[in-house]
Amino acid sequence: MVVSVAGAYRKGKSFLLNFFLRYLNSDGKENWMGEPNDPLIGFQWRGGSERLTSGILIWSEPYIIRNNKGDEVCVLLMDTQGAFDSQSTVKDCATVFALSTMLSSVQVFNITGNIQEDDLQHLELFTEYGRLALQTYEDKPFQTLHFLVRDWQYPYQHPYGAKGGSEILAKRLMINPKQHNELQNLRRHLQECFKVITCYLMPHPGLKVATERDFIGKLSDIDDEFKVQVKSFTESIFQSEHVVIKNINGSDITGKELIEYFKAYLKVYQG
Ligand code: GDP
Ligand code: MG
Repeated sequence: MVVSVAGAYRKGKSFLLNFFLRYLNSDGKENWMGEPNDPLIGFQWRGGSERLTSGILIWSEPYIIRNNKGDEVCVLLMDTQGAFDSQSTVKDCATVFALSTMLSSVQVFNITGNIQEDDLQHLELFTEYGRLALQTYEDKPFQTLHFLVRDWQYPYQHPYGAKGGSEILAKRLMINPKQHNELQNLRRHLQECFKVITCYLMPHPGLKVATERDFIGKLSDIDDEFKVQVKSFTESIFQSEHVVIKNINGSDITGKELIEYFKAYLKVYQG
């Protein structure tokens, strides 16, 4: 299972991945979120506007969890360079996003505020770039896509979490004959690319997280509602029923095979 988090830079991707790491390091302990004053460590993350992560990073330690059949599944976490920062071209961004989608079984598309039409357009561009490179005959080449909406502001209309997320998603991906053809095609295309698409609404983490220069990720500095939702989102990703083994062209693949695919995909983009 390869879990990737991708999207624009400085939107808390690496920050979130460090909660995944905490969970995976905790051996199923109930209070895996940790102590109130522990700094949040793992993938490099921080405030300010300079880019930290460059390209694709895979955490060096694989974790073992079980799926609902009781099989042991190896989990790899993947962090990506933010798309659309000032130092990368659109081609760089598309390559990083496409590669991370091709290599992951669970892609978390991290966006802020809402699912906007341009988020969908970027996603379409990136997945198309990936799909073409694959030259696969599978009708749905990619597995799970989670839209993760950060700083959701309208919980009274659509509640935080998966329920509010599925309401938003249904609205945004709805195909309506009155829509412009392009908008309809984009929606059809996304449904054809991913086997499962969901959405999760996250609250704002609080001002200390968003603005304080000396914030080191202490739970005591994070809003309670955010902690509740990070806990539930993380647990749902790794819940045995949701474990998605990476599958390429109909076969589940091993870690070793993943590396071979990685090399082969890179060659496509180097050409
Ligand atoms: P990345 O570039 O997407 O990997 O972003 P980072 O994980 O490095 O985080 C960038 C900044 O966003 C840090 O200052 C975090 O404290 C802050 N941050 C993390 N999560 C959130 C969130 O959900 N909302 C907001 N507004 N800020 C966040
Ligand atoms: Mg980062």
